[in-house]
Amino acid sequence: MDKIAFIGLGNMGAPMAKNLLKAGLNVEVFDLNPNAVAELTALGASSADSVQQAVQGADVVVTMLPASQHVQSVYLGQYGILDSVDAGTLLIDSSTIDPATARSVGEQAELRGISFVDAPVSGGVAGAAAGTLTFIVGGSQENFVQAKAVLNHMGKNIFHAGDAGAGQVAKICNNMMLGILMSGTCEALNLGMENGLDPKVLSDIMLQSSGRNWALELYNPCPGVMENTPASNGYQGGFMSQLMAKDLGLAMEAAVASQTSTPMGSLARNLFNFHNGQGNGQKDFSSLFEFYQKQNQA
Ligand code: NAD
Repeated sequence: MDKIAFIGLGNMGAPMAKNLLKAGLNVEVFDLNPNAVAELTALGASSADSVQQAVQGADVVVTMLPASQHVQSVYLGQYGILDSVDAGTLLIDSSTIDPATARSVGEQAELRGISFVDAPVSGGVAGAAAGTLTFIVGGSQENFVQAKAVLNHMGKNIFHAGDAGAGQVAKICNNMMLGILMSGTCEALNLGMENGLDPKVLSDIMLQSSGRNWALELYNPCPGVMENTPASNGYQGGFMSQLMAKDLGLAMEAAVASQTSTPMGSLARNLFNFHNGQGNGQKDFSSLFEFYQKQNQA
């Protein structure tokens, strides 16, 4: 493989691109934020001035962008990826977006003889840094096999969920579950604290009891309970609350389209939207814990 282009070097994309460099691959990067680009060029990546320049001559393109509208413009816009790569190039979009956009990009790529998979991830910033992400891939079997060879450098578990868009459906279901679990974990910890318990002691108890879950185990939302979590770092870094609200919105769209009941997901979406409306959208999503604390101060 001569060249991998990587576009979108945020909380997730930067550590993912670093792992490609560590694997000895030739990586050319582009992001709208020049500081993010400088961090990668200092480690040996080459940089481009535009999406078009980054992807020209690439064998593989990986994108890690915030939401559907960014994917749409970067892939389908003028001087976008589809206009700029050669037939035969493999495109991997790891952003979490709506399945319809993923399918549409996949269809338009196929018409031009370009391979596309949606490959959203789970595992957070820590998983991206450690190279242990879970990738949930949608696309043909042939494209999945090709993509796996690249994704292996950034992740540990690589699943083939089905055809184009299927990766996004699975990811949306997972994140609806995560939003519900985080809300419940914040609520239970706050209830315990309001009734005199030490949050660390309560967390240890729940970790060995039936309330155990991923948020409690790896991402405790109460500051000071666990080291190296966004909660213990002023809720900086990690997974922005506005991105969680976006994912819960995608789950609600999927629920409407399929006439499925999702009352817990709907409540979680409202909690995060309310929290974000109070100026917390750019904090990590575990900052929802502060929302519960504020209710008790009122
Ligand atoms: P982020 O906002 O930190 O990073 C996005 C990056 O994309 C930014 O650096 C931004 O400058 C860049 N960007 C935006 N538009 C661009 C354009 N037109 N051209 C080039 N670069 C552009 O977001 P993130 O936390 O890295 O998340 C990225 C995606 O991964 C989202 O879809 C998110 O839902 C998903 N995700 C995030 C996490 C997490 O823990 N942060 C976990 C799993 C999945």
